[in-house]
Amino acid sequence: MASDFHTHNPDTEVRALISSSIPLPGRFTSLEFHPWQLPEIFDSQILPSPDLLPDFAALGEIGIDKLRGPGNDIQQHYLHALLSLAADCQKPVVIHCVHAFQELFAALKHFSGIKVMLHGFNSSPEMLDELWKRNITVSFSRKATDKISLMNKLGNAGGAYGFESDDDPECNVMQLLDKVKTLFNIRDVEKFTDRCFADFLEI
Ligand SMILES: [Zn+2]
Repeated sequence: MASDFHTHNPDTEVRALISSSIPLPGRFTSLEFHPWQLPEIFDSQILPSPDLLPDFAALGEIGIDKLRGPGNDIQQHYLHALLSLAADCQKPVVIHCVHAFQELFAALKHFSGIKVMLHGFNSSPEMLDELWKRNITVSFSRKATDKISLMNKLGNAGGAYGFESDDDPECNVMQLLDKVKTLFNIRDVEKFTDRCFADFLEI
């Protein structure tokens, strides 16, 4: 099997966590509330209703992006409210984080019971260790598989990880797994990531 940790393609043929605003029957869907789409003011009325959550496997992507979307304070306010919703509904979260790791860690401090996956990770090996130290599952996109310093960490991984196609129609998670297996000699990568995927969603 192969597991795609984060995709926007509802028709993907592999086991996947699909970001969507509606639940997709028979699939693992994650209720998306993307920071890019947030309004310029905080409005609790537009938050997803807790009644929606049972039909989804996770909440996200949610998060903070310093390069896009409304101001940092507004994004943090929404993130806090969405993490609170996830905690109440006992759902794992998929996080989108751009240049805002410290803000993310500060927010997560209040919600230690939530399972967290950081999608599209492409930062430093040191930050990867920071995430693993916090028990965060890390999902790598195709770009990250070109970073030798990052991929070299996977042979003796300090935490859970997987791979994602995200919104790239050209990307197939099987190719990423094959690449990592061949180039970095991580033979059991498929089995390991499948287990991380199952642990994250408790399936
Ligand atoms: Zn995405």
